[in-house]
Amino acid sequence: MMKKKHYSTSILEIGLCLVCNYQAGIDWRSAKFASVEDLSRVPCDRCGYIGVEIFSRITGYLQALSSFNPAKKQEFLDRHRYTL
Ligand SMILES: [Zn+2]
Repeated sequence: MMKKKHYSTSILEIGLCLVCNYQAGIDWRSAKFASVEDLSRVPCDRCGYIGVEIFSRITGYLQALSSFNPAKKQEFLDRHRYTL
């Protein structure tokens, strides 16, 4: 079975589908998040499930984005929108 590597260690965010367990790095150049709400509406590339969980390696270990408070989510979003 061929296993394709979807992300490198340099990618900070990983999307994990809770339905089919598909895992992929988030490509912030093609991903378009207009608002904090969009962060919880990420579609799965494999099964199409809307609501892929995003994990961030902000502080060195992976944290589920859904555990962030709204202010921290906004900060996360702004960081990606303005630092590319
Ligand atoms: Zn899926």
